[in-house]
Amino acid sequence: MSFSSDSYDVIVAGGGPAGAAAATLVAQRGHRVLLLERSTGPQFKVGESLMPATYWVFERLGVLDWMKASHFPKKYSVQFFSSDGKASTPFYFRDHDPHENSQTWQVLRSEFDQMLLDNAEASGVEVRRGITLRDLLFEGERAVGARVVADGSGPVDLGCRVFIDATGQRAFLAGKLGLLEIESRLKNAAFFTHFQGGHRDQGIDEGATIILHTDERKSWFWSIPLPNDMVSIGVVGDIGHLILGRSRDPQTVFEEELARCPALAARLEGAEQKMVMKATRDFSYSPSVGAGDGWVLAGDAGGFIDPVYSTGVYLALKSGEMAADSVCEGLAASDLSAKRLGAHVERYRHGVQAMRQLVYAFYDPGFSFARFLTKHPDCKGELVDLLVGNVYRKPLDRIRAALAEEARLREAEPSPALA
Ligand SMILES: Cc1cc2nc3c(=O)[nH]c(=O)nc-3n(C[C@H](O)[C@H](O)[C@H](O)COP(=O)(O)OP(=O)(O)OC[C@H]3O[C@@H](n4cnc5c(N)ncnc54)[C@H](O)[C@@H]3O)c2cc1C
Repeated sequence: MSFSSDSYDVIVAGGGPAGAAAATLVAQRGHRVLLLERSTGPQFKVGESLMPATYWVFERLGVLDWMKASHFPKKYSVQFFSSDGKASTPFYFRDHDPHENSQTWQVLRSEFDQMLLDNAEASGVEVRRGITLRDLLFEGERAVGARVVADGSGPVDLGCRVFIDATGQRAFLAGKLGLLEIESRLKNAAFFTHFQGGHRDQGIDEGATIILHTDERKSWFWSIPLPNDMVSIGVVGDIGHLILGRSRDPQTVFEEELARCPALAARLEGAEQKMVMKATRDFSYSPSVGAGDGWVLAGDAGGFIDPVYSTGVYLALKSGEMAADSVCEGLAASDLSAKRLGAHVERYRHGVQAMRQLVYAFYDPGFSFARFLTKHPDCKGELVDLLVGNVYRKPLDRIRAALAEEARLREAEPSPALA
């Protein structure tokens, strides 16, 4: 295992969207950046549906043309099906903002993540696959380097002025420092696979994400169209419902839940399952701190919210972008304190909070988009903004207040089961 140097301005651990975005943007400012990714080559990952707001990060990274030329289905909208199988009117992003940024993509993560790493390398990042971060090195409170290993070789210590943790849900640093706070309300699990064939909408709806509740609202499915007539299907629900006291076989649980979602089962008629059923923990969490002296968190390593609105990749890219800006300012000022490296954290979390409010609403049995919009018709535009991911471009005060008010009212009401 050899590196071009034993010391870098910045070491980034994790080669997902957060790590690639952060590394690229720091390297574009002329700093020496090393990115470590433990996988040895492109791999399957869940997280295939993008939000339109990714457009602006793609533009900054210089990958928009690649995305436009890709074979990834174009996504113009998202549509929700209620537990009785009724479909909402699709939320077309461009109705609200008729610009090309209102269209996004459904991606194969193996290709998408590799493209971002190739772009990082072309921007000057030293990208090293097959290298695992084993430990972070500190002098007192300050991070000063990383201990890394590769298959078959002993640990190597590398120095850095700043360390960016983008290790995804592994959340290496937050775990090591005991910063992880799991949200007790969203302890979910997910089972997912790919199918080929079945019903595919046509025209502008061909690439739409569909979110469908099962009959008793105890779980929900995503349907994400992919290239080659493939579709990603996953079911998400509380671990108490999906796992505890049930068959340990993910395939059986998935099929039982699918039987509770006739609208999706009908769409999958004649489709062939192409991948062994996968399972993952889907807890929402947020570390109590986003940066320290000499280190900063990005992407899932810095927090995760439930995937119902496809927020993850956008937040990974955006937090990578914001972290890169704070790091570059810190390097320019020779101030690598927690305060300087975490200068963006409050603004970042304010945006995430708006998305979290909408996630909580989705899981609230008393909430429906139709009822919400009937009561708050002036929130339609801001609701689409939230679904687009425009939380850093607009304040969205109206919908934040309306969602908070609705949550307060529902908390004050006795639940129907107890009444
Ligand atoms: C069930 C489910 C469905 C989802 N659906 C969507 C969706 O439709 N749309 C969406 O936008 N998001 C979705 N997400 C979220 C999305 O997958 C993540 O938010 C996104 O991948 C985060 O990017 P990241 O760069 O932070 O982490 P990752 O993409 O996880 O990348 C982290 C990288 O770090 C590497 N790594 C880990 N530990 C080490 C180490 N010690 N050393 C070196 N490398 C290491 C890993 O190999 C990995 O490549 C979903 C998530 C779940 C759980």
